[in-house]
Amino acid sequence: MFKHVFGPVPSRRLGISLGVDLVLPKSCNMNCIFCECGATKKLTLKRERFKDPEEIKEEIKEVLKKIKPDYITFSGSGEPTLSKDIGEIIDWIKEHTDVKVCVITNGLLLDDSVVVNEIKNADLIIPTLNSVDNMIFKKINRPSVSSDVLQIMAGLKNLSEKYLGEIYLESFIIEGLNDSDEHTEKMVKFLKNIKFTKLQLNSLDRVGTEKWVKATSQEILRRIKDKYVELGIENVEIISEMKEIDEKIDIDQELIKNMKEKREYKEEELKKIYNI
Ligand code: SF4
Repeated sequence: MFKHVFGPVPSRRLGISLGVDLVLPKSCNMNCIFCECGATKKLTLKRERFKDPEEIKEEIKEVLKKIKPDYITFSGSGEPTLSKDIGEIIDWIKEHTDVKVCVITNGLLLDDSVVVNEIKNADLIIPTLNSVDNMIFKKINRPSVSSDVLQIMAGLKNLSEKYLGEIYLESFIIEGLNDSDEHTEKMVKFLKNIKFTKLQLNSLDRVGTEKWVKATSQEILRRIKDKYVELGIENVEIISEMKEIDEKIDIDQELIKNMKEKREYKEEELKKIYNI
């Protein structure tokens, strides 16, 4: 029985991605208004062991006998860097498999060099920066009162100086909060000082925690992208819909059930990659 792995999920940016959930639902150091896994039950800043790492490794071994994902991705029911075992499990995957590793993180712990050192062997890190304005950051990400956006910015700087792999920086756009040209100008001032592979503009794809949060129109996303390019940040892309793949994957029903427990997937979305 699989408890910690799910999918492979239809990922709009990673192809076939096997999810690994290192935390218990839902443990996070933020409670984002757009989160697709629902409201944070355990808002915590404390790193800890949530699960037995040996059980997780066993499950990864088992699943890889059945499928060959493009990435093993740490995401799921909360913030993966809260797990003290993330480094050990990444290193184990790199040593025992030939699958690339991705860490999706809200970036709040990246100012801690211990955390950056633990995830340094991942092939790809996707941190999020939705705003450099503390008020807007707090409205969107709703971290604990002691956290602010300067910590995220320091973390991204720390990551970009110490990490040698690819960084896809994600910015989640919400109309009326972080979609103005003035906001993009402030982001650019900061982003010019850090190193990243590309900036990805994201928008709501499923149901968010706060029902009033809606998908941002393509028109607005294109305007923001154009503004970034005009101001000198050229490696910007809008995350598009999941493309249908030619050779559909036979999926284990248990893994698909685990996946659906994390997020609401639409039937047509699943049919793009699975034989179901
Ligand atoms: S989107 Fe990520 S950082 Fe935000 S609440 Fe959900 S799991 Fe936590």
